[in-house]
This record gives sequence, structure tokens and C-alpha cells, in this order.
Amino acid sequence: MISMKRVNKHFGDLHVLRDIDLEIATGQVVVMLGPSGSGKSTLCRTINRLEPVDEGTIAIDGVPVPAEGRALARLRSDVGMVFQSFNLFAHKTVLDNVMLAPVKVRRIDKTKAKERALALLDRVGIREQAEKYPAQLSGGQQQRVAIARSLAMDPKVMLFDEPTSALDPEMVNEVLDVMVNLAKEGMTMIVVTHEMGFARKAADRVIFMADGSILEDTDPETFFTAPSSDRAKDFLAKIL
Ligand code: ATP
Ligand code: MG
Repeated sequence: MISMKRVNKHFGDLHVLRDIDLEIATGQVVVMLGPSGSGKSTLCRTINRLEPVDEGTIAIDGVPVPAEGRALARLRSDVGMVFQSFNLFAHKTVLDNVMLAPVKVRRIDKTKAKERALALLDRVGIREQAEKYPAQLSGGQQQRVAIARSLAMDPKVMLFDEPTSALDPEMVNEVLDVMVNLAKEGMTMIVVTHEMGFARKAADRVIFMADGSILEDTDPETFFTAPSSDRAKDFLAKIL
């Protein structure tokens, strides 16, 4: 589904992605771990070309990620992204936030889009908030709206970059629960997170990055109990 071959990227003198080779199958849930600055966000952002790469190829379902234009826009609508900051439209209701892209980009009929949006809000547990504005919701609720909004485009893959890092602790689980359910339903997911509970519960695979390289790529059990690199051992010693 996602295929990266010999991907390299620099920011000036900084070699931020080094010879990244990565194949992610449909339905796989990959948790990406690594120290700050190791390149996790950059790697995610290359998948929908928010960051262009210097070298190597990235393909989704066998189709190379287009460089620009309509083809790139179409690809981006297949790749859902959820960040630490929720990035909702403040002057639109929750419902309108979720309906907007399907109506504007996919030209889906408004009645249908509304029905679909309400079903998605139901799925993330906040249907009763549909007429509110983002500022009237808690952080956890806003992040669930952001997830529903991404799902409204029927993405082939969902990228989550520290989706719970900005949340108060008591709201982390309501967002993780939604993500665990998505994983169970078979969504292909790449998740950058410090939530080891999520990694243990939902990940098929853990990828550990350091200094722009993938140092470990294994199942969560092996990663947490028997990491092979010293960098991963150090990392785990600090966070567990
Ligand atoms: P964190 O855990 O802190 O989010 P990360 O693993 O996601 O870290 P990245 O954000 O991918 O790391 O950054 C990797 C490196 O690239 C860092 O050294 C960062 O400072 C640098 N970097 C990221 N974006 C840019 C940019 N637009 N221009 C220059 N350097 C950048
Ligand atoms: Mg990051």
C-alpha cells in the first residue's frame, strides 16, 4: 500500500532521512517511535508530499506520489492526517467542519454529506456536539472532530503525528480509543506517539528511528522486550 525506496532528504546540511526503505501493507498499523529530531514527522510528511524528498521513490498502491497539480491534490485526499494541533475551522460548526471537504472537493450532495458526517461523528462519540463550534469543545472532543473530518474523505491511510500530545491527560484515552477502533476496523495507519499503551494494544509493527534512519522494524512485543540497538534500549530506558 505504501512503499518507500531509498528515500533521502536533507534540510541544508542536516541529513534528515537516510536511505529509508519501508513497505506498509493495507490494514497495517505502524507505530513510529524515536527521540526528538529523529525524523518521524518529516517521514510522515513525505508520504503526501508536504515535504518533497531529494532522492528515492514513494508510492501509494503502486502509484508514485505526484509532484504537483491535481494528481497531488487527489493523492492528498486519500491520505488523512491528524496532528497535535487540531486545525479545525473555528468559524464553522463541528458538522460543517466534517462536511466541508466532501462537499467542496468531492462534490458530494449536501444531504448525503450531512448524513455521512453525522454517522462519523457518531462513530467518534460526539454526534451530540454537531452544532457547536470548536471553541465550545474540549481538546479531546476537538481532536475527535479532526479524526472524523479526515475520515470523511474516505482515506486509504491515516497518518497521526502525536495526536494526543497537546491534550490534558484525562482526554488522551478518549482519542486513543477512537484510534484503537479504527485500527480494529482495518484502517492502514501510521502513528507517531509516545503512548506505549497504544503501541502495545494496536500496533502490528513498531518502527524506531534515530538520526534519520530506521534502526528497528519489528513487532511491539519484540521491540519492548528485546530491542536490538543500543539507541532503542536507551530510548526505552528513558520512557518506560
Ligand atoms: P519530535 O519527536 O520532536 O517531533 P521528529 O522525530 O518528528 O521530532 P522532525 O520534526 O522530523 O523530527 O525533525 C527532524 C529534524 O529535521 C530536526 O532536527 C528538525 O529540527 C529538522 N527540521 C524539521 N523540519 C525542518 C525544516 N522545515 N527546516 C529545517 N529543518 C527542519
Ligand atoms: Mg515530530
